Amino acid sequence: MIRDYNMKEYKKNAFRQSKYRGEIASRVRVPGGVIDAKSLMRVVEIAEKYGDGTINLTNRQGFEIPHIRIEDRDKVNEELQLIIENTNVNHGQPGEGYPASGTRNVVACPGKELCPFGCYDTKALAAKLDKMIFPNNHHVKIACTGCSNDCAHVRLNDFGIIGQTEPQYDPDRCIGCEQCVKYCSKRSVGALSVVNGKIVRDTNKCIGCGVCVNYCPTRAWTRSKEHYFRLELLGRTGKKNPRLGEDFLKWADEESVCKIIKNTYDYLDDYLDMAAVEAKEHIGYIVDRTGVEEFLKYAMKDVELGPKCEMAGRMYWGGKRYDQTNELRKSMFRFSDREE
Ligand code: SF4
Ligand code: SF4
Ligand code: SF4
Repeated sequence: MIRDYNMKEYKKNAFRQSKYRGEIASRVRVPGGVIDAKSLMRVVEIAEKYGDGTINLTNRQGFEIPHIRIEDRDKVNEELQLIIENTNVNHGQPGEGYPASGTRNVVACPGKELCPFGCYDTKALAAKLDKMIFPNNHHVKIACTGCSNDCAHVRLNDFGIIGQTEPQYDPDRCIGCEQCVKYCSKRSVGALSVVNGKIVRDTNKCIGCGVCVNYCPTRAWTRSKEHYFRLELLGRTGKKNPRLGEDFLKWADEESVCKIIKNTYDYLDDYLDMAAVEAKEHIGYIVDRTGVEEFLKYAMKDVELGPKCEMAGRMYWGGKRYDQTNELRKSMFRFSDREE
């Protein structure tokens, strides 16, 4: 029998509405996609005990356990407690499950702990950010990727964090093989050249990808001790005008990036349209309303960018727009006219 229930409250408690009457799905939060094997087994147990034995892997590196009967919610929440603790997710009363679901799981690529191209520990930053911003009902998406390959697709998030390194050159170790020049040219942006037998890096071109470090056989190139970040702002998916995040900062430090993200919650408190469906809006739509300057007034409050940091002179999100008479379409008509 289906009892009266408030789906809004269930959603806040990280249960998804199901298309099957009387059922919900439990969403298990896994910051950075890291879960210990025992907790994973517990996810399996919940799926077998309260679901139909299946588990969905979500796009944001969490789990979703479908086909849970609504009346089993409290029991599922109790069983989630150990998983919540082991994944180090902030929570309220033990046994009551997740206290919010608006701010989404922070995504991370494998990063430097696993991947040779990683410029920083993405999983650690994802865990730190998750601790800093969760629980919160604001709809915010963050992703961390270890280098400019962007395996985590961070430009589809409100905040996309891309690792950078400032490669350090030791001419005494260099044997002049030019591997670094070749790979920077073929796999990156071509920032290296040979001048008088030494390798010179064009600092304006270099994107801090670390490819030169990876392909130098003598360790004449090494990574900088400092970690730097490129911050992409306000990418979004969705039905209405999806768009990629835009470059905002390059060579930023971790503290500044974290502060900007934290500050954004004050902006959302003040400008979110509470009349929006489920009081949920992508930040980008709010910025479209208030103007980017107002957003940055909040986001940059008390942020002290380091001397290396570069900021975009102008922020513009084009997004996708369609109409029946645009120039591309006209040119296609002209092209087909010629063919006839
Ligand atoms: S983004 Fe870079 S660090 Fe992350 S998995 Fe891809 S190649 Fe590795
Ligand atoms: S870090 Fe990347 S862009 Fe910069 S010099 Fe090395 S390979 Fe080229
Ligand atoms: S790959 Fe290393 S050793 Fe070869 S030219 Fe570049 S810096 Fe020198």
